[in-house]
Amino acid sequence: MGRMTTMLITGANKGLGRETARRLIAAGHDVWMAARDPRRGREAADALGGRFVALDVTDDASVAAARRTVEETSGGLDVLVNNAGITGDRVSVAETTAAHVDAVFATNVLGPVRVLHAFAPLLTRSDTGVVVNVSSGMGSMAITSDPERLESGIVALGYPASKAALNMLTTQYAKAYPDLRVNCVDPGYTATDLNDNTGTQTVEEGTEVIVRMAQVGPDGPTGRFFDARGEVPW
Ligand code: NAP
Repeated sequence: MGRMTTMLITGANKGLGRETARRLIAAGHDVWMAARDPRRGREAADALGGRFVALDVTDDASVAAARRTVEETSGGLDVLVNNAGITGDRVSVAETTAAHVDAVFATNVLGPVRVLHAFAPLLTRSDTGVVVNVSSGMGSMAITSDPERLESGIVALGYPASKAALNMLTTQYAKAYPDLRVNCVDPGYTATDLNDNTGTQTVEEGTEVIVRMAQVGPDGPTGRFFDARGEVPW
C-alpha cells in the first residue's frame, strides 16, 4: 500500500466495479476503468478520475486491444480485478437450457480466462502482481449447502456453476503463477443492477473485500477465497 500501482477493473462503469475504482483511485492508484460500452465507460472514468479503456470480456480482439492500450500508456499492469459478470436469464432449473448456461459461462468463466491470458505477461513482470476474481457465495459448495445461509435457498444452474468454476480457475492460476497473488472474493449480497438493487448491502460494503484483496502485498495469501469477514469455505 502507498506505492502507486497500475490497476485494471473489468465492468467498471457501474455497480461494484465502479465503486472499486472509486476507492482505489481515492487510495492513490492509477486505475484503468474497463467497460464494454465506451460512452458509459468514459463517463464513469471521467467522473472518478480513472482511465477508460474499452474491454468486452467475451471478445478476443477487444481484450487484445485493451492490453495494447494499457501496455503502451502505463508500461505495465500490477493489479487485475476480474469483476465483469452477469446472472443470465432468470429461469427455473427445468427451463434452463445449455444455451442459457453457455451465455453465463461466456462472460463469468471464459471472460476471466481471456483477460488473464492477455494480461498475465504484464502482471508477471510486476514485482507485486495481483489478481482478484470477483466470485460469489453462490459459487461455494459449502455456503450453498448451509441452511443458515441465504445462498442455500437460491436454486439455479448457470450463475452458481460459473462462480464455482471461477473459484477453481483461481486456485489453478495461483499454482501456475506463484509470483502473483491470485484470490477470489465474495462481495456479499449488494444492491446493484445485477439483482435489481434488492441486495441488502451498499456498494461500499460490497467492495470492502475487493479493495482489500486488490492491495495485498507480495507476502499476502494466494489461491484463497475471502469475504469481508475473512476466509470463505469452498
Ligand atoms: P452490475 O451492476 O450489473 O455490473 C456488472 C458489470 O459487468 C457492468 O459494468 C457490466 O457492463 C459488466 N459486464 C457484463 N458483461 C460484460 C462483458 N461481456 N464485458 C465487459 N463487461 C461486462 O453487477 P455487480 O453486482 O456490480 O457485479 C459485479 C460482480 O460482482 C459480478 O461478477 C457479480 O457476479 C459479482 N457479485 C455481485 C453480487 C451482488 O450482490 N451484487 C454478489 C456476489 C457477486 P454493462 O453495464 O455494459 O452491462
